[in-house]
Amino acid sequence: MGELLLHGGLVATQIDGGQLLEDGAIRISAEGRIAALGPSAEVASDEIRADFPGEVVDLGGRLVLPGQINAHNHLYSALARGMAPLGERPATDFVGVLETLWWPLDRALDEESVYLSALFGLMESARAGVTTVVDHHASQGFVRGSLDAVARAARDLGLRLSTCFEVTDRDGAEVAAAGLEENAAFAASLKDASPLGGAPQITATLGLHASFTLEDETLARAGRLVDELGLPGVHVHLSEDRADAEDALRRGGVRPTQRLDAHGLLRPGSLTIHGLWVDEAEIALLAERGCLLVTNPSSNMNNGVGRCDLARLRAGGVRVAVGTDGMSGDVLNSLALAYFARRDAARDPSVGWDDALALLAGNRAVAEVFFPGAQLGTLRTGGPADLVVMDYLPFTPLNAGNLLGHVLYGGLASRTRDVICGGRYVLREGRFPQLGEDFAELSRRTQLAAQSLWDRRALKPNT
Ligand SMILES: [Zn+2]
Repeated sequence: MGELLLHGGLVATQIDGGQLLEDGAIRISAEGRIAALGPSAEVASDEIRADFPGEVVDLGGRLVLPGQINAHNHLYSALARGMAPLGERPATDFVGVLETLWWPLDRALDEESVYLSALFGLMESARAGVTTVVDHHASQGFVRGSLDAVARAARDLGLRLSTCFEVTDRDGAEVAAAGLEENAAFAASLKDASPLGGAPQITATLGLHASFTLEDETLARAGRLVDELGLPGVHVHLSEDRADAEDALRRGGVRPTQRLDAHGLLRPGSLTIHGLWVDEAEIALLAERGCLLVTNPSSNMNNGVGRCDLARLRAGGVRVAVGTDGMSGDVLNSLALAYFARRDAARDPSVGWDDALALLAGNRAVAEVFFPGAQLGTLRTGGPADLVVMDYLPFTPLNAGNLLGHVLYGGLASRTRDVICGGRYVLREGRFPQLGEDFAELSRRTQLAAQSLWDRRALKPNT
Protein backbone atom coordinates (compact mmCIF):
# COMPACT_ATOMS: atom_id res chain seq x y z
CA MET A 1 0.00 0.00 0.00
CA GLY A 2 1.03 3.58 -0.48
CA GLU A 3 1.20 6.55 1.79
CA LEU A 4 -1.93 8.24 3.11
CA LEU A 5 -2.49 11.84 4.14
CA LEU A 6 -5.60 12.65 6.18
CA HIS A 7 -6.31 16.31 6.82
CA GLY A 8 -9.03 18.67 8.06
CA GLY A 9 -10.09 16.48 10.97
CA LEU A 10 -10.87 17.05 14.63
CA VAL A 11 -8.09 14.78 15.83
CA ALA A 12 -8.00 13.45 19.41
CA THR A 13 -4.77 11.65 20.27
CA GLN A 14 -6.49 9.81 23.14
CA ILE A 15 -10.06 9.75 24.51
CA ASP A 16 -8.72 10.76 27.92
CA GLY A 17 -5.80 13.00 28.68
CA GLY A 18 -4.65 13.50 25.10
CA GLN A 19 -4.38 16.43 22.75
CA LEU A 20 -7.17 17.69 20.53
CA LEU A 21 -6.25 19.24 17.19
CA GLU A 22 -9.10 21.34 15.79
CA ASP A 23 -7.84 21.18 12.23
CA GLY A 24 -5.53 18.23 12.40
CA ALA A 25 -3.74 16.05 9.90
CA ILE A 26 -2.13 12.63 10.00
CA ARG A 27 0.47 11.43 7.55
CA ILE A 28 0.71 7.64 7.35
CA SER A 29 3.77 5.89 5.95
CA ALA A 30 3.66 3.02 3.48
CA GLU A 31 4.66 0.79 6.41
CA GLY A 32 1.49 1.82 8.26
CA ARG A 33 2.98 4.04 10.95
CA ILE A 34 2.06 7.62 11.76
CA ALA A 35 4.83 9.61 10.06
CA ALA A 36 3.52 12.99 11.16
CA LEU A 37 0.68 14.28 13.31
CA GLY A 38 -0.16 17.95 13.75
CA PRO A 39 -2.06 20.95 12.45
CA SER A 40 -3.16 20.59 8.82
CA ALA A 41 -1.35 23.86 8.05
CA GLU A 42 1.95 22.16 8.93
CA VAL A 43 1.46 18.49 8.09
CA ALA A 44 -0.80 18.89 5.06
CA SER A 45 -0.24 22.37 3.65
CA ASP A 46 -1.31 23.14 0.05
CA GLU A 47 2.27 22.50 -1.15
CA ILE A 48 2.61 19.22 0.70
CA ARG A 49 -0.76 18.00 -0.59
CA ALA A 50 0.09 18.99 -4.15
CA ASP A 51 3.30 16.94 -4.12
CA PHE A 52 2.08 14.07 -1.97
CA PRO A 53 2.94 10.71 -3.53
CA GLY A 54 -0.01 8.81 -2.02
CA GLU A 55 -3.72 9.33 -1.42
CA VAL A 56 -4.96 12.56 0.16
CA VAL A 57 -8.22 12.43 2.15
CA ASP A 58 -10.20 15.45 3.37
CA LEU A 59 -11.87 14.50 6.68
CA GLY A 60 -14.37 17.35 6.46
CA GLY A 61 -14.04 18.26 10.15
CA ARG A 62 -14.98 14.78 11.37
CA LEU A 63 -13.75 13.45 14.69
CA VAL A 64 -10.73 11.13 14.59
CA LEU A 65 -10.01 8.88 17.57
CA PRO A 66 -7.39 6.21 18.21
CA GLY A 67 -8.69 2.74 17.38
CA GLN A 68 -10.24 1.29 20.52
CA ILE A 69 -9.19 -1.85 22.41
CA ASN A 70 -11.68 -4.50 23.49
CA ALA A 71 -10.05 -6.22 26.46
CA HIS A 72 -12.29 -9.33 26.45
CA ASN A 73 -14.42 -10.73 23.64
CA HIS A 74 -15.57 -14.14 22.43
CA LEU A 75 -15.61 -13.98 18.65
CA TYR A 76 -16.92 -17.56 18.56
CA SER A 77 -20.26 -16.33 19.90
CA ALA A 78 -21.09 -13.99 17.00
CA LEU A 79 -23.24 -16.58 15.22
CA ALA A 80 -25.38 -17.00 18.34
CA ARG A 81 -27.28 -13.80 17.70
CA GLY A 82 -31.00 -14.62 17.70
CA MET A 83 -30.36 -18.23 18.75
CA ALA A 84 -32.67 -19.73 21.36
CA PRO A 85 -31.09 -21.71 24.20
CA LEU A 86 -31.73 -25.44 24.37
CA GLY A 87 -34.17 -26.74 26.95
CA GLU A 88 -37.85 -26.26 27.53
CA ARG A 89 -37.58 -23.47 30.06
CA PRO A 90 -35.09 -20.60 30.34
CA ALA A 91 -32.15 -21.33 32.62
CA THR A 92 -32.55 -19.76 36.04
CA ASP A 93 -28.88 -19.57 36.98
CA PHE A 94 -25.49 -18.94 35.40
CA VAL A 95 -24.37 -22.54 35.09
CA GLY A 96 -27.73 -23.29 33.46
CA VAL A 97 -27.04 -20.57 30.87
CA LEU A 98 -23.68 -22.18 30.10
CA GLU A 99 -25.24 -25.65 29.83
CA THR A 100 -28.14 -24.67 27.58
CA LEU A 101 -26.54 -21.92 25.49
CA TRP A 102 -22.78 -21.62 25.32
CA TRP A 103 -21.42 -25.13 25.88
CA PRO A 104 -23.66 -26.80 23.26
CA LEU A 105 -22.66 -24.05 20.83
CA ASP A 106 -18.94 -24.42 21.35
CA ARG A 107 -19.15 -28.20 20.88
CA ALA A 108 -20.95 -27.73 17.55
CA LEU A 109 -18.59 -25.15 16.01
CA ASP A 110 -16.50 -26.38 13.08
CA GLU A 111 -13.78 -24.77 11.01
CA GLU A 112 -16.10 -22.83 8.71
CA SER A 113 -18.36 -21.56 11.50
CA VAL A 114 -15.36 -20.53 13.64
CA TYR A 115 -13.93 -18.55 10.71
CA LEU A 116 -17.20 -16.88 9.78
CA SER A 117 -18.09 -16.16 13.40
CA ALA A 118 -14.71 -14.50 13.91
CA LEU A 119 -15.02 -12.58 10.64
CA PHE A 120 -18.45 -11.15 11.44
CA GLY A 121 -17.53 -10.61 15.10
CA LEU A 122 -14.53 -8.60 13.94
CA MET A 123 -16.62 -6.64 11.44
CA GLU A 124 -18.98 -5.70 14.27
CA SER A 125 -15.93 -4.65 16.29
CA ALA A 126 -14.65 -2.44 13.48
CA ARG A 127 -18.08 -0.87 13.07
CA ALA A 128 -17.83 0.08 16.76
CA GLY A 129 -14.46 1.79 16.35
CA VAL A 130 -12.39 -1.12 17.68
CA THR A 131 -9.07 -1.99 16.03
CA THR A 132 -7.66 -4.39 18.66
CA VAL A 133 -9.65 -7.36 19.92
CA VAL A 134 -8.49 -9.52 22.81
CA ASP A 135 -10.31 -12.78 22.12
CA HIS A 136 -11.01 -15.80 24.31
CA HIS A 137 -11.86 -18.66 21.96
CA ALA A 138 -13.83 -21.84 22.67
CA SER A 139 -14.80 -24.58 20.21
CA GLN A 140 -14.44 -27.80 22.15
CA GLY A 141 -15.63 -29.90 19.20
CA PHE A 142 -13.01 -28.36 16.86
CA VAL A 143 -9.84 -27.68 18.81
CA ARG A 144 -6.80 -28.25 16.63
CA GLY A 145 -6.41 -25.43 14.11
CA SER A 146 -9.24 -23.37 15.59
CA LEU A 147 -7.02 -20.42 16.57
CA ASP A 148 -5.64 -20.36 13.04
CA ALA A 149 -9.20 -20.01 11.74
CA VAL A 150 -9.81 -17.07 14.09
CA ALA A 151 -6.51 -15.45 13.14
CA ARG A 152 -7.22 -15.94 9.43
CA ALA A 153 -10.40 -13.86 9.84
CA ALA A 154 -8.39 -11.06 11.49
CA ARG A 155 -5.80 -11.16 8.69
CA ASP A 156 -8.47 -11.18 5.98
CA LEU A 157 -10.16 -8.16 7.54
CA GLY A 158 -7.00 -6.35 8.71
CA LEU A 159 -7.68 -5.94 12.45
CA ARG A 160 -5.29 -6.54 15.33
CA LEU A 161 -5.99 -9.59 17.47
CA SER A 162 -4.75 -11.44 20.49
CA THR A 163 -6.36 -14.82 20.94
CA CYS A 164 -6.09 -18.03 22.93
CA PHE A 165 -8.01 -21.26 23.42
CA GLU A 166 -10.20 -21.64 26.53
CA VAL A 167 -8.84 -24.84 28.03
CA THR A 168 -11.38 -26.77 30.11
CA ASP A 169 -11.85 -30.24 31.59
CA ARG A 170 -15.61 -30.17 31.13
CA ASP A 171 -15.37 -32.34 27.99
CA GLY A 172 -12.79 -34.71 29.43
CA ALA A 173 -9.02 -34.86 29.88
CA GLU A 174 -8.32 -35.51 26.20
CA VAL A 175 -10.07 -32.31 25.08
CA ALA A 176 -8.31 -30.39 27.87
CA ALA A 177 -4.93 -31.67 26.67
CA ALA A 178 -5.84 -30.78 23.08
CA GLY A 179 -6.71 -27.26 24.24
CA LEU A 180 -3.31 -26.82 25.88
CA GLU A 181 -1.63 -28.12 22.72
CA GLU A 182 -3.66 -25.73 20.56
CA ASN A 183 -2.50 -22.76 22.65
CA ALA A 184 1.10 -23.93 22.36
CA ALA A 185 0.97 -24.68 18.63
CA PHE A 186 -0.68 -21.36 17.82
CA ALA A 187 1.80 -19.34 19.91
CA ALA A 188 4.70 -21.12 18.19
CA SER A 189 3.22 -20.45 14.74
CA LEU A 190 3.36 -16.68 15.29
CA LYS A 191 7.16 -16.46 15.66
CA ASP A 192 7.75 -15.18 12.12
CA ALA A 193 4.44 -13.38 11.62
CA SER A 194 4.56 -10.20 9.56
CA PRO A 195 3.93 -6.92 11.42
CA LEU A 196 1.19 -4.38 10.77
CA GLY A 197 2.10 -0.74 11.19
CA GLY A 198 5.34 -1.69 12.91
CA ALA A 199 3.64 -3.85 15.59
CA PRO A 200 2.52 -7.48 15.56
CA GLN A 201 -0.92 -8.02 14.04
CA ILE A 202 -1.66 -11.28 15.86
CA THR A 203 -0.42 -12.36 19.29
CA ALA A 204 -1.18 -15.18 21.71
CA THR A 205 -1.53 -16.01 25.36
CA LEU A 206 -2.73 -19.09 27.24
CA GLY A 207 -6.51 -19.38 27.61
CA LEU A 208 -8.31 -21.10 30.46
CA HIS A 209 -12.08 -21.26 30.84
CA ALA A 210 -12.57 -20.85 34.61
CA SER A 211 -11.47 -22.51 37.83
CA PHE A 212 -14.73 -24.44 38.20
CA THR A 213 -14.23 -26.42 34.98
CA LEU A 214 -10.49 -27.07 35.44
CA GLU A 215 -8.75 -29.90 37.28
CA ASP A 216 -5.59 -29.31 39.31
CA GLU A 217 -3.47 -31.31 36.88
CA THR A 218 -4.57 -29.09 33.97
CA LEU A 219 -3.86 -25.93 35.96
CA ALA A 220 -0.39 -27.25 36.82
CA ARG A 221 0.32 -28.03 33.16
CA ALA A 222 -0.93 -24.58 32.17
CA GLY A 223 1.49 -22.92 34.60
CA ARG A 224 4.42 -24.90 33.19
CA LEU A 225 3.37 -24.10 29.62
CA VAL A 226 3.24 -20.35 30.23
CA ASP A 227 6.87 -20.52 31.37
CA GLU A 228 8.04 -22.87 28.62
CA LEU A 229 6.50 -20.75 25.87
CA GLY A 230 7.35 -17.38 27.39
CA LEU A 231 3.71 -16.26 27.22
CA PRO A 232 2.54 -13.14 29.10
CA GLY A 233 0.27 -15.12 31.42
CA VAL A 234 -3.22 -16.57 31.21
CA HIS A 235 -6.61 -15.24 30.14
CA VAL A 236 -9.22 -16.72 32.47
CA HIS A 237 -12.76 -16.07 33.77
CA LEU A 238 -12.69 -15.48 37.51
CA SER A 239 -15.64 -15.47 39.92
CA GLU A 240 -18.18 -14.48 37.29
CA ASP A 241 -20.76 -16.26 39.43
CA ARG A 242 -20.77 -17.50 43.02
CA ALA A 243 -20.63 -21.06 41.62
CA ASP A 244 -16.93 -20.53 40.80
CA ALA A 245 -16.10 -19.71 44.43
CA GLU A 246 -18.27 -22.53 45.80
CA ASP A 247 -16.55 -25.05 43.52
CA ALA A 248 -13.02 -23.96 44.51
CA LEU A 249 -13.90 -24.05 48.20
CA ARG A 250 -15.36 -27.54 47.78
CA ARG A 251 -12.25 -28.78 46.01
CA GLY A 252 -9.59 -27.53 48.33
CA GLY A 253 -10.87 -25.01 50.84
CA VAL A 254 -9.50 -22.01 48.96
CA ARG A 255 -11.20 -19.50 46.68
CA PRO A 256 -10.59 -19.40 42.88
CA THR A 257 -8.00 -16.61 42.99
CA GLN A 258 -5.84 -18.51 45.49
CA ARG A 259 -6.36 -21.71 43.51
CA LEU A 260 -5.08 -20.13 40.28
CA ASP A 261 -2.23 -18.49 42.16
CA ALA A 262 -1.12 -21.81 43.64
CA HIS A 263 -0.25 -22.87 40.09
CA GLY A 264 1.64 -19.67 39.29
CA LEU A 265 -1.03 -18.42 36.91
CA LEU A 266 -1.50 -14.92 38.30
CA ARG A 267 1.08 -12.60 36.80
CA PRO A 268 1.20 -8.98 35.60
CA GLY A 269 0.43 -10.24 32.08
CA SER A 270 -2.58 -12.33 33.16
CA LEU A 271 -6.12 -11.20 32.42
CA THR A 272 -8.74 -12.16 34.99
CA ILE A 273 -12.25 -11.65 33.71
CA HIS A 274 -15.30 -10.46 35.74
CA GLY A 275 -14.28 -10.78 39.42
CA LEU A 276 -17.79 -10.24 40.80
CA TRP A 277 -17.58 -12.56 43.77
CA VAL A 278 -13.99 -12.02 44.94
CA ASP A 279 -13.42 -11.38 48.66
CA GLU A 280 -10.97 -8.95 50.25
CA ALA A 281 -8.11 -11.46 50.36
CA GLU A 282 -8.59 -12.20 46.66
CA ILE A 283 -8.58 -8.49 45.82
CA ALA A 284 -5.33 -8.07 47.76
CA LEU A 285 -3.80 -11.03 45.91
CA LEU A 286 -4.88 -9.73 42.47
CA ALA A 287 -3.35 -6.36 43.33
CA GLU A 288 -0.13 -7.95 44.62
CA ARG A 289 0.28 -10.06 41.50
CA GLY A 290 -0.44 -7.04 39.26
CA CYS A 291 -3.10 -8.83 37.21
CA LEU A 292 -5.54 -6.89 35.07
CA LEU A 293 -9.20 -7.48 35.82
CA VAL A 294 -11.61 -6.97 32.92
CA THR A 295 -15.21 -6.00 33.66
CA ASN A 296 -18.04 -6.74 31.21
CA PRO A 297 -21.16 -4.93 32.42
CA SER A 298 -23.61 -5.83 29.63
CA SER A 299 -22.77 -9.53 29.98
CA ASN A 300 -23.15 -9.43 33.77
CA MET A 301 -26.52 -7.74 33.43
CA ASN A 302 -27.64 -10.24 30.78
CA ASN A 303 -26.66 -13.24 32.90
CA GLY A 304 -28.08 -11.79 36.09
CA VAL A 305 -24.92 -12.74 37.98
CA GLY A 306 -24.54 -9.52 39.97
CA ARG A 307 -22.43 -6.39 39.69
CA CYS A 308 -18.71 -5.93 39.42
CA ASP A 309 -17.75 -3.56 42.24
CA LEU A 310 -15.21 -1.40 40.45
CA ALA A 311 -14.86 0.99 43.37
CA ARG A 312 -13.90 -1.84 45.74
CA LEU A 313 -11.48 -3.39 43.27
CA ARG A 314 -9.81 -0.08 42.53
CA ALA A 315 -9.61 0.83 46.22
CA GLY A 316 -7.83 -2.48 46.73
CA GLY A 317 -5.25 -1.58 44.08
CA VAL A 318 -6.49 -3.83 41.25
CA ARG A 319 -5.96 -2.56 37.71
CA VAL A 320 -9.26 -2.66 35.81
CA ALA A 321 -10.17 -2.76 32.12
CA VAL A 322 -13.37 -3.23 30.12
CA GLY A 323 -14.59 -5.71 27.52
CA THR A 324 -17.78 -6.95 25.89
CA ASP A 325 -17.64 -10.71 26.67
CA GLY A 326 -19.12 -11.67 23.31
CA MET A 327 -22.25 -9.55 23.76
CA SER A 328 -21.22 -7.22 20.92
CA GLY A 329 -18.11 -5.58 19.53
CA ASP A 330 -18.91 -2.20 21.04
CA VAL A 331 -16.44 -1.63 23.86
CA LEU A 332 -17.28 2.07 24.22
CA ASN A 333 -20.87 1.06 24.93
CA SER A 334 -19.52 -1.28 27.63
CA LEU A 335 -17.50 1.61 29.01
CA ALA A 336 -20.64 3.76 29.21
CA LEU A 337 -22.59 0.92 30.86
CA ALA A 338 -19.85 0.47 33.47
CA TYR A 339 -20.05 4.20 34.18
CA PHE A 340 -23.85 4.23 34.51
CA ALA A 341 -23.89 0.98 36.52
CA ARG A 342 -21.43 2.52 38.98
CA ARG A 343 -23.73 5.52 39.52
CA ASP A 344 -26.76 3.27 39.71
CA ALA A 345 -25.17 1.02 42.34
CA ALA A 346 -23.87 3.94 44.42
CA ARG A 347 -27.04 6.02 44.00
CA ASP A 348 -24.60 8.87 43.60
CA PRO A 349 -24.31 11.01 40.44
CA SER A 350 -20.87 12.29 41.48
CA VAL A 351 -19.09 8.98 40.90
CA GLY A 352 -18.10 7.01 37.81
CA TRP A 353 -15.90 9.43 35.89
CA ASP A 354 -12.71 8.22 37.57
CA ASP A 355 -13.77 4.63 36.90
CA ALA A 356 -14.21 5.37 33.20
CA LEU A 357 -10.73 6.95 33.10
CA ALA A 358 -9.29 3.92 34.91
CA LEU A 359 -10.96 1.54 32.45
CA LEU A 360 -9.56 3.40 29.43
CA ALA A 361 -6.06 3.35 30.95
CA GLY A 362 -6.59 -0.33 31.77
CA ASN A 363 -7.46 -1.18 28.19
CA ARG A 364 -4.27 0.49 27.02
CA ALA A 365 -2.40 -1.58 29.62
CA VAL A 366 -4.07 -4.74 28.29
CA ALA A 367 -2.91 -3.84 24.78
CA GLU A 368 0.64 -3.30 26.10
CA VAL A 369 0.62 -6.86 27.45
CA PHE A 370 0.02 -8.27 23.98
CA PHE A 371 1.57 -5.56 21.78
CA PRO A 372 4.39 -4.21 23.98
CA GLY A 373 5.73 -0.82 23.06
CA ALA A 374 3.03 -0.11 20.46
CA GLN A 375 1.08 2.19 22.84
CA LEU A 376 -2.20 1.26 21.20
CA GLY A 377 -5.13 3.47 22.13
CA THR A 378 -2.98 6.58 21.59
CA LEU A 379 -2.14 8.40 18.37
CA ARG A 380 1.49 9.48 18.23
CA THR A 381 4.18 10.08 15.66
CA GLY A 382 6.04 6.83 15.05
CA GLY A 383 3.21 4.67 16.39
CA PRO A 384 1.00 2.29 14.41
CA ALA A 385 -1.69 4.09 12.39
CA ASP A 386 -4.67 2.49 14.15
CA LEU A 387 -7.42 5.09 14.04
CA VAL A 388 -11.12 5.61 13.46
CA VAL A 389 -13.02 8.43 11.78
CA MET A 390 -16.42 9.13 13.29
CA ASP A 391 -19.33 10.60 11.39
CA TYR A 392 -19.59 13.11 14.17
CA LEU A 393 -19.58 16.85 13.75
CA PRO A 394 -20.08 17.99 17.37
CA PHE A 395 -22.94 20.45 17.88
CA THR A 396 -21.74 21.37 21.37
CA PRO A 397 -18.24 22.48 22.40
CA LEU A 398 -15.74 19.65 22.36
CA ASN A 399 -12.31 19.85 23.95
CA ALA A 400 -9.67 17.52 25.33
CA GLY A 401 -11.25 17.74 28.80
CA ASN A 402 -14.81 16.85 27.82
CA LEU A 403 -14.24 14.35 24.99
CA LEU A 404 -15.00 11.49 27.39
CA GLY A 405 -18.38 13.11 28.07
CA HIS A 406 -19.12 13.10 24.32
CA VAL A 407 -18.16 9.42 24.23
CA LEU A 408 -20.23 8.39 27.28
CA TYR A 409 -23.34 10.38 26.38
CA GLY A 410 -23.06 10.57 22.60
CA GLY A 411 -23.04 6.91 21.56
CA LEU A 412 -20.06 7.75 19.38
CA ALA A 413 -19.08 4.20 18.52
CA SER A 414 -22.23 3.75 16.43
CA ARG A 415 -21.04 6.61 14.23
CA THR A 416 -17.88 4.88 13.06
CA ARG A 417 -17.37 5.71 9.41
CA ASP A 418 -13.81 4.69 8.59
CA VAL A 419 -11.38 2.38 10.35
CA ILE A 420 -7.67 2.28 9.57
CA CYS A 421 -5.48 -0.37 11.20
CA GLY A 422 -1.74 -0.40 10.59
CA GLY A 423 -2.26 2.19 7.85
CA ARG A 424 -4.76 0.10 5.88
CA TYR A 425 -8.46 0.77 5.51
CA VAL A 426 -10.50 -1.91 7.26
CA LEU A 427 -13.78 0.01 6.95
CA ARG A 428 -14.28 2.81 4.49
CA GLU A 429 -17.54 4.75 4.39
CA GLY A 430 -19.31 1.77 5.87
CA ARG A 431 -17.80 -0.86 3.53
CA PHE A 432 -15.06 -3.42 4.04
CA PRO A 433 -12.71 -3.01 1.06
CA GLN A 434 -10.64 -6.13 1.89
CA LEU A 435 -13.68 -8.36 1.52
CA GLY A 436 -14.41 -7.40 -2.08
CA GLU A 437 -17.77 -6.80 -3.68
CA ASP A 438 -19.57 -10.02 -2.77
CA PHE A 439 -20.51 -8.95 0.72
CA ALA A 440 -24.19 -9.90 0.29
CA GLU A 441 -23.14 -13.38 -0.79
CA LEU A 442 -20.82 -13.67 2.21
CA SER A 443 -23.69 -12.67 4.51
CA ARG A 444 -26.00 -15.27 2.93
CA ARG A 445 -23.34 -17.97 3.27
CA THR A 446 -22.84 -17.05 6.91
CA GLN A 447 -26.55 -17.15 7.65
CA LEU A 448 -26.68 -20.70 6.27
CA ALA A 449 -23.65 -21.67 8.35
CA ALA A 450 -25.30 -20.19 11.44
CA GLN A 451 -28.54 -22.12 10.85
CA SER A 452 -26.57 -25.32 10.37
CA LEU A 453 -24.63 -24.60 13.59
CA TRP A 454 -27.84 -23.99 15.54
CA ASP A 455 -29.32 -27.27 14.24
CA ARG A 456 -26.13 -29.24 14.92
CA ARG A 457 -25.68 -28.21 18.55
CA ALA A 458 -28.83 -30.05 19.63
CA LEU A 459 -27.32 -33.27 18.27
CA LYS A 460 -24.11 -33.05 20.30
CA PRO A 461 -24.37 -34.88 23.61
CA ASN A 462 -23.67 -33.06 26.82
CA THR A 463 -20.75 -34.69 28.58
ZN1 LIG B 1 -15.93 -14.22 28.77
